[in-house]
Amino acid sequence: MINFLDLKKINERYTLELKEACARVIDSGWYIGGKELSSFEQEFAKYCGTQYCVGVANGLDALTLTLRAWKEMGKLSDGDEVIVPANTYIASILAISENRLTPILVEPDPETYNISAECVEKAITPRTKVILAVHLYGQLADMPALCNIAQKHNLLVLEDSAQSHGASIEGRKAGNWGHASGFSFYPGKNLGALGDAGAVTTNDQELASVIRALGNYGSYKKYENQHRGVNSRLDEIQAAMLRVKLNYIDSEIIERRKLANVYIEEIKNDLIQLPSVPRQEQHVWHLFVVQTDHRESLKSHLDAHGIQTLIHYPIPAHKQNAYKELASHSYPLTEAIHQRVLSIPLNIETTAEEAETIVKCLNNFQTK
Ligand SMILES: *Cc1c(COP(=O)(O)O)cnc(C)c1O
Repeated sequence: MINFLDLKKINERYTLELKEACARVIDSGWYIGGKELSSFEQEFAKYCGTQYCVGVANGLDALTLTLRAWKEMGKLSDGDEVIVPANTYIASILAISENRLTPILVEPDPETYNISAECVEKAITPRTKVILAVHLYGQLADMPALCNIAQKHNLLVLEDSAQSHGASIEGRKAGNWGHASGFSFYPGKNLGALGDAGAVTTNDQELASVIRALGNYGSYKKYENQHRGVNSRLDEIQAAMLRVKLNYIDSEIIERRKLANVYIEEIKNDLIQLPSVPRQEQHVWHLFVVQTDHRESLKSHLDAHGIQTLIHYPIPAHKQNAYKELASHSYPLTEAIHQRVLSIPLNIETTAEEAETIVKCLNNFQTK
């Protein structure tokens, strides 16, 4: 059986170091808001190339609290429009509606799966305030184009970098393009904790400070509450786990790229469309997503050969019961993507031998 993602194996590589780090936290007697967190924040900011990093409880909170902070800072108000790709994971959109802002869904480029800059520009209205650019599957959205548009129309840019730690364009990494960026360290992400964790990166000192306060009951000073905040903090234990794993992310990205290259060079089947990579060297391959008109039969074919696949994602946001008000809109490219995509195993524990088996199986696939 070739598993899609075996987290036990993935963390086993680092068992000794993780256990040591865990013991360090246990022995310290300090479990929230201590040295592990502040060190991780500094290390991750440095990794992304930003001045600030604020740890929060998860990736959804990273996005939600950034938008909330902009409201507290007077930059956004109820009903303002936030442009977001229609084919993103639902969390990007939940962060918008949670803040009583209006998500404006925009079609992606069907080749890269990322938001189309052209469609973004067309969607701008006088109420547009933010572009929420999602770097889907490990590849940066077209940030040079999106940042130009934002500048021209005086918009804020929030990156959703949950799937793209370390991805870059022209040496500039995810997390360092927008006014702020949300990261998730959910265990299955490329930089994964051993539980929930998230962070915001930014070069805006005030924003960093408001987000930090919002995640701590709206308090800058103990027992004084400036905002009606929430509790959203990155635990010391998770920060310690992440500090171990951050040391290996770049070598893991190299391993992922090797596998992706095998797939790109060796998968040859007219029924299967490979992901398009205009900026090969910057993709971090969180997911390797192919498209086919015959998804169900391809999935069963792989399954029959012991290869586990997943679908990212089966139902777009505008077709979810949670967003009934968006149901009347039509996003044909997004809908086609949701019907055609299939993610095949690609992670640091996928062996060269397994990759060959997967390639062979994909190349053998035919319709009856
Ligand atoms: C995982 C993910 C999130 C949410 O992160 P959590 O840590 O699970 O809250 C947000 N956006 C995208 C694109 C994601 O993949």
